Amino acid sequence: IAYNSARFLTSASRVSECPPDDGSEVAFAGRSNAGKSSAINAITVNSKLARTSKTPGRTRLINFFSLNRPGCRLVDLPGYGYAKVAKEMQEDWQKHLDDYLSRRESLRGLVLVMDIRHPLQDFDRMMIEWCEQSQLPLMILATKADKLKSGQAKQAMLKIRKALEGVDCLEHLIQFSALKKQGLDQARNALTDWLEA
Ligand code: GDP
Repeated sequence: IAYNSARFLTSASRVSECPPDDGSEVAFAGRSNAGKSSAINAITVNSKLARTSKTPGRTRLINFFSLNRPGCRLVDLPGYGYAKVAKEMQEDWQKHLDDYLSRRESLRGLVLVMDIRHPLQDFDRMMIEWCEQSQLPLMILATKADKLKSGQAKQAMLKIRKALEGVDCLEHLIQFSALKKQGLDQARNALTDWLEA
């Protein structure tokens, strides 16, 4: 799969608006500002594919991107915890995310994007728990690694790995930087394994 072939397919604000549930897709999740959009843009070598969290209206939507292998898609889930949205909107968001995750047959895996300096926050733990319960393969991108010195980044990775000991759904834990283009091929290879399986 050539990830630079990714193209915007459609947006959905609820599960009924999603494209047909066939083929294979992998979804990206993360707290707002974790660096999810930047990670998607780096992986797809497309600086405009995923919108950054500065436009809250847009980030409420689930965005689908097609790839050059027919039936394969990447999915950008709305960023969690945008501070400026009202509580009802957060609840609404939560419900649509739950619907998507629990009903989507073509979902092959989840990519959880975390800031390497602030890993395993409540939302992250909730997503990991969800993957574990539903036996959905999990990939974690510990991003913004360029913000730490290499020794600190290594320590941070060890700490995350240790905290997630015994989490069986965790298939890939990748030190990542969209800025420095670190971990891109590792992430692409893992995505391809899931999408082509
Ligand atoms: P999102 O809300 O999770 O989609 O996060 P964004 O991709 O919009 O990134 C949030 C902020 O972090 C932006 O200011 C990005 O420029 C910055 N950022 C994202 N990825 C990286 C990275 O790998 N390194 C650095 N230094 N900054 C990053």
